[in-house]
Amino acid sequence: MNSGAPVSALRAGVLALQGDFREHLAALADCGVQGSIVRRAQELEGLDGLIIPGGESTAMDRLLRAFDLHRPVREFISSGRAVYGSCAGMILLADQLVEPARDARGEPQQTLGGLDMTVRRNAFGRQRDSFEAELDFRQISDPERPIHAVFIRAPWVERVGPGVEVLATVRIEGIDRPVAVRSSTVLATSFHPEVRGTAGEPDELRVHELFVRMMQGRGE
Ligand code: GLN
Repeated sequence: MNSGAPVSALRAGVLALQGDFREHLAALADCGVQGSIVRRAQELEGLDGLIIPGGESTAMDRLLRAFDLHRPVREFISSGRAVYGSCAGMILLADQLVEPARDARGEPQQTLGGLDMTVRRNAFGRQRDSFEAELDFRQISDPERPIHAVFIRAPWVERVGPGVEVLATVRIEGIDRPVAVRSSTVLATSFHPEVRGTAGEPDELRVHELFVRMMQGRGE
């Protein structure tokens, strides 16, 4: 956290091993924040926050270990700086997964952890592999202007621990499934606010702005 720093002085990293890191860099730039890619541990130095993008959590898990980034990123998360994960990023931030993917030897995928929650990958099932929804997102949306959310083979959250707040849900078969959660310094969404352009809304920045306030220590 960089208390009270002007937005232009903040430095955010985006993990760029795989996935839609370019879209996050573009959203950060539109918030007035300097973003940089992270592919090695030294690139975490001096950052006020880190985004873990959407993509494929199993591939990112393997690459995190291949690039010796697993431990440095875990340390970054536990240092109390702001961290945000979208979709695959949410999966990686979960302390626990139900039905994790397994490799050819039957080893389950690993996560980085950081949020006391249990997440289910590809939770919305085949019919709803990809869909869009208007979300009531606590703290940042209002009834006239919900968050238009793009879900792509998205996870949902099955359990949150005491320090984790649910910010948005999607109702599936009568059950409200959490799709946005946060602790004081870690934010995760099942959907992709970085996908703007055709599917999303070009001017939508409210989730990234929440992350920016978290970097400033004002994300209450
Ligand atoms: N299903 C993907 C995974 O398990 C996440 C999809 C996404 O990031 N759009 O990693």
